[in-house]
Amino acid sequence: MSVTGPIVGGLDVGGTKILGRAVDAHQPRASLAEARVETPRGESHVLDAIGQVVAELQSAPAVRDRGGVAAVGVGVPGLVDHRGVLRFAPNLPGVVEVAVGPELEHRLGLPVVVDNDANCAAWCESRLGAAVGVSDAVLVTLGTGIGAGIIAGGRLYEGASGFAGEPGHMVVDPTGPPCPCGRRGCWERFASGSGLGRLARDAAAAGRAPAVVALAGGDPEAVRGEHVTKAALAGDLDAMGILRELAWWLALGLANLVDLLDCELIVVGGGLAEAGESLLRPVREAFSDLVLAADHRPPVRIVAASFGAEAGAIGAALLASERLA
Ligand SMILES: [Zn+2]
Repeated sequence: MSVTGPIVGGLDVGGTKILGRAVDAHQPRASLAEARVETPRGESHVLDAIGQVVAELQSAPAVRDRGGVAAVGVGVPGLVDHRGVLRFAPNLPGVVEVAVGPELEHRLGLPVVVDNDANCAAWCESRLGAAVGVSDAVLVTLGTGIGAGIIAGGRLYEGASGFAGEPGHMVVDPTGPPCPCGRRGCWERFASGSGLGRLARDAAAAGRAPAVVALAGGDPEAVRGEHVTKAALAGDLDAMGILRELAWWLALGLANLVDLLDCELIVVGGGLAEAGESLLRPVREAFSDLVLAADHRPPVRIVAASFGAEAGAIGAALLASERLA
């Protein structure tokens, strides 16, 4: 068996930027080439931008010298059906019902796999990262919202339509704050980076958390999640209290997921995971109070993701290489 394999491209289409990397399918951790562009608005512009990233990867010497990219995986933020059609993408304005997979295959002349971005990140963690060797796991990525990917029986669980793994929009408080999805009190309104910002602004308005407000330039209305994590990492007790509040909401949704799926491992990724143990420790404590029959089930491990912002692109490349195989 040769040491080197075919070259595959992995792209992660985010709300603000599109990241691409080319990897050897047999050594997917090492990047042969990388490219990034800002995410444009509108469906045809997004497809053009994806094509531009693939062209940049193709023209990199390390890729070109080995015959170019043989297949492309694309992670997109939204509901993707089994045919590679992006049906709904609240973070990509003007992009709805777009046949991303078929259209890119036509334009690029290459096999293309399209999946949800968090599914791609979950597959990266399952094959190479924190969930290697675990048959039943969930990855949650905590950013502006909550993304998730479910590994069930060692495989990515896609659901009947391909839409599985959107727990960020499970309603945890029907009277809660409005969500961009059109409903109220979705889990991600409480347990994401934007949820943390909202909890912190409530604390700031009540006169708590002066150190957090100072990091936001003195304006309580300008407080964001990153101000809280920064103050907590510096040891601020108010910020740690706000993180504990967030941790309870996070644990509530995770307990619901474990009650439903009986997974043995939860992997926490995304920007909020940078808070590390100052977030995960209170999550574990609250989780064991909230999950069904904690004393009668094996412990569920809750750990930080192994991969950072590159997880989606690497996972998309892995899905593309499996398509080739
Ligand atoms: Zn929602």
